[in-house]
Amino acid sequence: MAALEQHADALVTSDDPQHPANLICELCRKFYTLGWVTGTGGGTSIRKDDKLFIAPSGVQKELMRPGDMFVMDFESKEYLRRPPVLKPSACTPLFLAAFTLRNAECCIHTHSQWAVLVTLLCERKASESNVFAISTLEQIKGVPRGYGPEKKGNLGYYDTLKIPIIENTPHEEDLKDTLEQAIQDWPDAHAVLVKRHGIYVWGKDVAQAKTLCESLDYIFQLAVEMHKLGLPWVKE
Ligand SMILES: [Zn+2]
Repeated sequence: MAALEQHADALVTSDDPQHPANLICELCRKFYTLGWVTGTGGGTSIRKDDKLFIAPSGVQKELMRPGDMFVMDFESKEYLRRPPVLKPSACTPLFLAAFTLRNAECCIHTHSQWAVLVTLLCERKASESNVFAISTLEQIKGVPRGYGPEKKGNLGYYDTLKIPIIENTPHEEDLKDTLEQAIQDWPDAHAVLVKRHGIYVWGKDVAQAKTLCESLDYIFQLAVEMHKLGLPWVKE
């Protein structure tokens, strides 16, 4: 094996379960069982120091192996490791937006049905088609308040959670400009919903991104059930 290939494989070979290449496989398996990702849908990326580890396109999420990972140099955006038989994820430019504009260290993209249903319900109301808002729920405490020293910690029980919604595009990578715009327009957002598609969620580390994904999915499911019961999302 050429020295360069050996070096590239070393980037994804580790006994440490917290190594990004191992962690992404573990997360994809968990997200698959939750129905958040499928063979073709969704993805996960972790930034460790100056390297991005990105789950590939076209590999069954529950069968992913560390050797399937793409590794990119964050500075140059050059691939340091590119499995020859696999395609890079179409989510890559979207993950890069969260890493670059929000200094995130983990970005998760799911096709959760609850997230999709919430965008459909918002679509019905012209006044709410570009934002999902819900208030006065205990689980909102699982969502970070925002960025900057005055926005430390998570939202409180009486706060209103707002998540921007962007239009879908036929090709995932074409979401880049609108996702970047939403990140600029909503400086405290840790997530962006994509209409009839899913959600992008990011965090300062894997734990924050994963916890946020879980909290949001709980809230979206609750929101759909509240809507069925005729209950308002924002407490009057
Ligand atoms: Zn997608």
